[in-house]
Amino acid sequence: MKKRFTFKGGIHPPHFKKATEKISVQRAEVPQTVTIPLQQHIGAPCEPIVKVGDKVKIGQKIGEAKAFVSAPVHSSIAGTVKKLVSLDSSTGSKAMCVVIEADGSNEVHEDIKPKGDINSLTKTEIIQIVKEAGITGMGGAGFPTHVKLSPPPEKKIDSIILNGAECEPYLTADHRLMLENPKKVVYGLKALMKAVDAQNGYIGIEENKPDAIEVMTKTVSNAANIHVVPLKTKYPQGDEKRLINAATGREVPSGGLPMDVGVVVNNVGTAAAIADAIQTGMPVIERIVTITGSAIKEPKNLIVKVGTSFKEVIEQCGGYKEEPGKIISGGPMMGIAQYSDEVPVIKGTSGILVLNKKEAKIPEPQNCIRCGKCVDICPVNLQPLFISQFSLKRMYDEAESYHALDCIECGSCSYICPSKRPLLHSIRMGKREIISKRKKK
Ligand code: SF4
Ligand code: SF4
Repeated sequence: MKKRFTFKGGIHPPHFKKATEKISVQRAEVPQTVTIPLQQHIGAPCEPIVKVGDKVKIGQKIGEAKAFVSAPVHSSIAGTVKKLVSLDSSTGSKAMCVVIEADGSNEVHEDIKPKGDINSLTKTEIIQIVKEAGITGMGGAGFPTHVKLSPPPEKKIDSIILNGAECEPYLTADHRLMLENPKKVVYGLKALMKAVDAQNGYIGIEENKPDAIEVMTKTVSNAANIHVVPLKTKYPQGDEKRLINAATGREVPSGGLPMDVGVVVNNVGTAAAIADAIQTGMPVIERIVTITGSAIKEPKNLIVKVGTSFKEVIEQCGGYKEEPGKIISGGPMMGIAQYSDEVPVIKGTSGILVLNKKEAKIPEPQNCIRCGKCVDICPVNLQPLFISQFSLKRMYDEAESYHALDCIECGSCSYICPSKRPLLHSIRMGKREIISKRKKK
């Protein structure tokens, strides 16, 4: 039997993937209007380079990144800029948005052309293509990819790991991508490897996707330096530090980054976006989204244009089956709950999960019974009960001394807690206070 790689701790929530795991990806209808936020990524927002009344084409840059940690934004449709306005985004904050009305021409911008081939492109050219295409972490994190590919000279990268774990319940977008477009994923991986001179490539996939493991293994069979790594199905297997440890045995130090152990981790969707940017010249203007949950009539995997409203996407899945209790961007563990379905799909929207009223009900928290379950399952070896208590009592120095900042916000502790303590929420709040205190210093 093949060795399965894993990590200490973690939980086994029900997968809830059946509704969409066998459903092929379809293209969603082109929306009549898109609302494209100029901040869809971690880092500085873009500055608009279009004004009201301008005509734009598909793939045209509409937001310029002025900082290193930022990523440009492009139009996903051809039409006319109607508004530049600050609106709620699915990241949970407000963002300046470019509202574009389609003109039906579907005209592609003249700059959109193939950029060559990995073999002919230099590493600097690949990084520049990634940057100009506005590629950010497609798994949901939204970190600009070109930044990951530009480590300081003393950090030698020898391995690229693609995250195909998709450990979040309900989501199947990455699974379907690997099944339906494995060559694109591998092309993107090879481009990433060339960009940082990495000798080894890994694709980590949870064993609950045996078909994806088989397809990807076949696809890399001629590349001796690329390995598919079957991972034990466990949450949060897709967290980058867990993935690095499971695939390479290396341990990222507390407060450290993957580059400290010679690794860069990217999502399989990010690799596919890189392949598109090189092979067709198209920047990130659309992505695969899993639309699912008990309140959705016909769950689907759809390719959706960035800027399409959740509401419009849900309507293409037959609409709501019953009154929605909770709308989440992403999965149930690390996703972000939304106040409304009017928010737009962005580059990091891996899923739209809609739970019914019964599932969405939050149980009343009880006192901690010191069962230790949260400590046993924390994948980072933290003591969530203490960090949470310190945070709730505003004792942030104490929370920091218990390594609150190492928390990856996976939510496993909240999930397992029999007293339904708001562990993740309080720890997240504590982390924000610690970071803001550090910044003030
Ligand atoms: S403390 Fe943080 S890392 Fe540990 S289980 Fe809770 S959310 Fe996950
Ligand atoms: S799991 Fe909940 S009840 Fe048990 S120790 Fe942790 S906080 Fe307390």
